[in-house]
Amino acid sequence: MKIGILSRNSELYSTRRLREAGEQRGHQVMIIDTPRCFMNIASQRPTVHYKKIVLDDLDAIIPRIGASITFYGTSVVRQFEMGGVYSLNESVAISRSRDKLRSLQILSKHGIGLPVTGFANSTQMTGELIELVGGAPLVVKLLEGTQGIGVVLCETRKAAESVIEAFRGLQANFIVQQYIKEAGGADLRCFVIGDKVVAAMMRQGAEGEFRSNLHRGGTASLVKITPEERNTAVRSAKVMGLSVAGVDLLRAKSGPVVMEVNSSPGLEGIETSTGKDVAGLIIEHIEKNARPGRTRTRGKG
Ligand code: ADP
Repeated sequence: MKIGILSRNSELYSTRRLREAGEQRGHQVMIIDTPRCFMNIASQRPTVHYKKIVLDDLDAIIPRIGASITFYGTSVVRQFEMGGVYSLNESVAISRSRDKLRSLQILSKHGIGLPVTGFANSTQMTGELIELVGGAPLVVKLLEGTQGIGVVLCETRKAAESVIEAFRGLQANFIVQQYIKEAGGADLRCFVIGDKVVAAMMRQGAEGEFRSNLHRGGTASLVKITPEERNTAVRSAKVMGLSVAGVDLLRAKSGPVVMEVNSSPGLEGIETSTGKDVAGLIIEHIEKNARPGRTRTRGKG
């Protein structure tokens, strides 16, 4: 097969591993720097151009679209889909997963466990929002944040009011969330491919830090997850429409609650802490599923 990896940087661990795994399994792999693609939006034969060539012979693409280029990146993926190219994750699902609020609404619609979450536009509703999530301590999250930036733990009601007012003053969109204290600053990253969790790790925040992000100094270790956690992760990826996803869960008293469903999950942490060949499993999934015209959405929505 001829597989294109949409990635800004061929030196990144995930990109390197996917290329290596594809080539090891006898495929031709090309790394495509997404912003350098351009396209002709024509009714006859929609194509994607890259540098001086037309990319019209790919069997599958692996989108690794960074948060900062979601808009352009998903439009390139959609253009491939319109041309009938199989995309590991489809453009619609990637867009959905990038919007934290939309993701939570989709997960809640399907009855998946979530921390109690509030969202409001009006400046008058601060008190009600705080009540809605059960009062302080609570977490306020910028909708545009990634890697734990813009996620604030407010220990008292006064602190919560100040943070909410500050974010409002900056005209930022944010959600207010019940604080899952019993998670103890740890979360579970479940790596889903198709209908299986193929690897899972526990990330523990640095001493005194409630955020477990590895970028914030967290450490990862191998973890055995329960059938309920497994089921929650697989269902979350499925309702988001993602074939490959990194589903982040917290262990709450009420059971697993989903933090986030990531559509371009990194491979370094998960492969290193579990010793699994996740890149190989992704390529295997593509071999089983990529056929011309297999893209369900065909660039819709
Ligand atoms: P980002 O997408 O920026 O990583 P998250 O919403 O995943 O933001 O939050 C970052 C980390 O902060 C989570 O992985 C988790 O460890 C911690 N965290 C976030 N929300 C809560 C919460 N409601 N209760 C407890 N811990 C939380």
